[in-house]
Amino acid sequence: MIIKFIDVINILFPQICGICGKINKDGLCNQCRIKLEGLAQYSIICEDFKNKYFNELIYIFKYEGLIRKLILDYKFNEKSYMYVCFVKCILENEKIYQKLQSYDAIIPVPISKKRMKERGYNQSLLIAKKISQSLKIPLQTNCLFKTKHIIEQSKLNKEQRKENIQNVYELKNGEILNNKQILLIDDIYTTGNTVNECAKILQQAEPKKIDVLVLAKD
Ligand SMILES: [Zn+2]
Repeated sequence: MIIKFIDVINILFPQICGICGKINKDGLCNQCRIKLEGLAQYSIICEDFKNKYFNELIYIFKYEGLIRKLILDYKFNEKSYMYVCFVKCILENEKIYQKLQSYDAIIPVPISKKRMKERGYNQSLLIAKKISQSLKIPLQTNCLFKTKHIIEQSKLNKEQRKENIQNVYELKNGEILNNKQILLIDDIYTTGNTVNECAKILQQAEPKKIDVLVLAKD
């Protein structure tokens, strides 16, 4: 059996709408785009982070209902291709599009090597990479590393989460980020411990500012 190059491409990057599964070359059909955009909040929060290491939080959805299901599918059910839908929905919004253009470094929240082996992809990296390509902002994956493998934050309570995430990230090549406006990208914002811990480590590089973009906030 001869497998054509195009078939391989279609298996790796299916030409379907990531939400409903219908054939669609853009990765998101019109109906699902309207549905997603209807659920989107496109919020930018500038206050409430006085005790945090980042400045602003940008979130696209509330972490509930259909969105919760879609993100869990994306993260745990091997539907890696869904990042295309999410990024389309993010960049479709004029306010968010303008806002994202103000950064000069994009950094995804890293996962451990063990998690990478299990899952096969870093869900935040896929989103970060697509945004970086679309907006032509450098993606920096050589600066922030997760050096310890820990229990999934979602399996722990509020107190345990804070403890669990301590000292698991490490900064390398900090000079790249010096005086830069960093956009840190994660999938879900719950207690904010993960992005805050990442931002704390990134502050060692003395960037100009660090903002956070997440798909959904609970
Ligand atoms: Zn669809």
